[in-house]
Amino acid sequence: MMRQYLEVKDQYRDAILFFRLGDFYEMFYDDAKLVSRELELTLTGKDCGEPERAPMCGIPFHSAESYIGRLVKRGYKVVICEQVEDPALAKGLVKREVTRIITPGTVIENNFLDEGQNNYLCAVYMSDGCAGVCFADASTGDISATRIEGDQFTRRLINEIATYAPRELLLSCPKETCPVLTEYLTGQLHCVINDSLPGSFDRTAAGPLISRCFGRIPEAIGPEDGCILSAAGALIAYINDTQKTDISYFKELNVYHDGQYLDMDVNTRRNLELCETLRTKEKKGTLLWVLDRTRTSMGARLLRKWVELPLRNVNAIIRRQGAVKELSESFMLREEIADAMRSVLDIERLMTKIVYGTASAKDLRAVANTLKLIPHLRELIAESQSPELRDLYANLDPLEDIASLIDSAIVEDPPFIIREGGMIRPGYSREVDELNDIIHNGKGYIERIEAEEREKTGIKNLKIGYNRVFGYYIEISKSFLAQAPDRYIRKQTLTNCERFITQELKDMEATILGASDRIAALEYELFCQIRDRVSSQAERIQITAGKLALLDVYNALADVAVRNNFVCPDVEYGDTIKIKEGRHPVVEQFVADHYFVPNDTVLDTNYNRLMLITGPNMAGKSTYMRQVALITVMAQIGSFVPAREARIGICDKIFTRVGASDDLASGQSTFMLEMNEVAYILKNATKRSLIIYDEIGRGTSTFDGMSIARAVAEYTLGKKIGAKTLFATHYHELTELEGEFPGVVNYNIAAKKKGDDITFLRKIVRGSADDSYGIEVAKLAGVPNEVIRRAKEVLKLLEAKSSAAAAAEPPKEEESNQNLTFEDFKASEIVARIEQINLDGLTPIEALNILYELKKLAR
Ligand code: ADP
Repeated sequence: MMRQYLEVKDQYRDAILFFRLGDFYEMFYDDAKLVSRELELTLTGKDCGEPERAPMCGIPFHSAESYIGRLVKRGYKVVICEQVEDPALAKGLVKREVTRIITPGTVIENNFLDEGQNNYLCAVYMSDGCAGVCFADASTGDISATRIEGDQFTRRLINEIATYAPRELLLSCPKETCPVLTEYLTGQLHCVINDSLPGSFDRTAAGPLISRCFGRIPEAIGPEDGCILSAAGALIAYINDTQKTDISYFKELNVYHDGQYLDMDVNTRRNLELCETLRTKEKKGTLLWVLDRTRTSMGARLLRKWVELPLRNVNAIIRRQGAVKELSESFMLREEIADAMRSVLDIERLMTKIVYGTASAKDLRAVANTLKLIPHLRELIAESQSPELRDLYANLDPLEDIASLIDSAIVEDPPFIIREGGMIRPGYSREVDELNDIIHNGKGYIERIEAEEREKTGIKNLKIGYNRVFGYYIEISKSFLAQAPDRYIRKQTLTNCERFITQELKDMEATILGASDRIAALEYELFCQIRDRVSSQAERIQITAGKLALLDVYNALADVAVRNNFVCPDVEYGDTIKIKEGRHPVVEQFVADHYFVPNDTVLDTNYNRLMLITGPNMAGKSTYMRQVALITVMAQIGSFVPAREARIGICDKIFTRVGASDDLASGQSTFMLEMNEVAYILKNATKRSLIIYDEIGRGTSTFDGMSIARAVAEYTLGKKIGAKTLFATHYHELTELEGEFPGVVNYNIAAKKKGDDITFLRKIVRGSADDSYGIEVAKLAGVPNEVIRRAKEVLKLLEAKSSAAAAAEPPKEEESNQNLTFEDFKASEIVARIEQINLDGLTPIEALNILYELKKLAR
């Protein structure tokens, strides 16, 4: 057996092997050590002919799911090796086979999945500066693909992958050859990378696989999309291999190209907190959290997808808006839809289980129960006017044939286990009914035989009994023995009586005792037939599932809009963003007494190109700028927005540059990261983009920072970009840009100073702030009074000095004197800095940074 184990293990070196032994799954050697550590199980040992006992640990097979779930969640791959013949009948060693491979990106079992979120597997095919990328959720059949190439290739690839946040990624090349991607995937996304299957990206194999899967090569894959074929092929092959099947179950392949969705890079997604918060990575406190009033898991997943991928097509957005608007106008309708939706189950994922043959009778029942709700839901939207709802009404197929098949075949509350009978409804199969009758009326049959035998033999006290050794027998007391007919076969002689059997009695015994086994086998067979029939209708059911999800999302968006007082924005292809009394959708939920101060916004690509915003810390600058971005995102999703009125010219991309935290792991300083992000924005923004700069140039000296900030503002305003921009800064000097550059408009967020105290008014007004009020804010934050007092003294001194310096125009000779002392001072500073360097613990990047710093000092 151990040899058999090792042969299997040899094929799956990168996975944990669950080896079925009777009622347990056992693990051996390193797998056993790892699993016992990860799941806190007792590590035992098994004598297996080696000098040392083999480490071993085991899990009862019936509770394996939760253990597998925990391992897969932690990124492990689990291989299930089952006994594929009955141990009682096996000659010699029981035959075993690998029946399933469960990996983080290919799980389909509900217990292992987050119901409100897709679980993506990604395949990336790399070839000369171009990548084919394919994403699929095996549990729902969703699949899409795109091609990435050109400038800043790696960064764009990362952005694309981050949108889907896959759990597992197949890479066509060794991961060492793309360190930046690898670092991001493992460090930030906690995604498992598999680069051990380069052969599966072979294009000649991909074509037939894809054709078989979709009936043809999808037209959207153009002749230049060879890399997409490779990626999709590898992905499909991997899913087939892990499911141990060649059924490929996917919906239509969605091939998309640049320009379909609102482009947001990784940092922007994080900063805007679309689906998870920056700090805690939770849903609470995000845009999705505000919008998600869906009632079904299918709706929740669809809404999340919409939030991750807002649209750029105005017509498509207006269609969505139409549905939301119509539903927002009727409270009763919304409530009734929501009510019905509460009972809608996840038929999207259930269908996947049905197709892969892992569904139970309970799952089939769940599908039928959900389908039965559809006529009512359709009726609710029968009178709708908006094109989207009309379309839903027309295409929400109640699939009565499938519902009634399941209804007629499966009992209301079937057991979880499919091999023990009890699933088939009376009346569906005559054979099952007969067997059931025998099981339930077995005693009656025996009683009937007993009565018949008494009659035939005339022996009044003849009786039928049962024991384990003989089974059923006929017992006759000694005095009547002579009346026993010849067909009675003697079995046992006791003091007062004799026991016999008859052929009829033995036949009945076999029927009664075998009925339970037979009914289990028969029900299983019938169940598989029904499951296959439902499976053959997968496409129709998936379409209906998609429509249910849509209706749920529209209803949720309408509900949110009404509850939060959102309005329908005008969306258009123009260049203007005009918001009246806009609010931050998330912050307004948290502000005490719900008093969020609304603010207006006007941005265009002409005279209102760059809003330069100054004001104290804590005034509300970040909130304001994010609110403009979030309102734009919401509008492009098709949602209503938190404002009194809004006109949104569709954006192609949104960028945010917001204070980054140190990324020590990648050896980059905050300043370096900041500049990286700025570089990315400057290279990729267009006139149609929306940019948010929240404090640029803070990580370096004042003059340095200010110069960079100004140059960045000028470049963003200029012909090469000219994007709509919100620019918050503490460099008051930048406010001079207004007037110098057309398109710059100064704003500040008003604050009132009274003595030492400061009150925030949260209102954005024209003009620049007169002060940063840093010390007042420090006081608010509880910095000790002594420090506050001293800071004020220092500030006074500095202010006095700078005004004195400005007033005096020093003579030429004096200036050279001053330069001399200045340089002396600098020289000693450089020496001191060099002395501080600890050469032993220096990374190349740190060395470069120091060199940069020294050079700057030297200048
Ligand atoms: P800044 O970027 O200027 O330092 P923030 O945008 O971080 O300030 O805002 C600080 C806090 O002020 C927010 O957390 C929020 O609670 C509150 N706030 C901001 N804007 C508003 C507003 N318009 N109405 C009410 N409270 C606000």
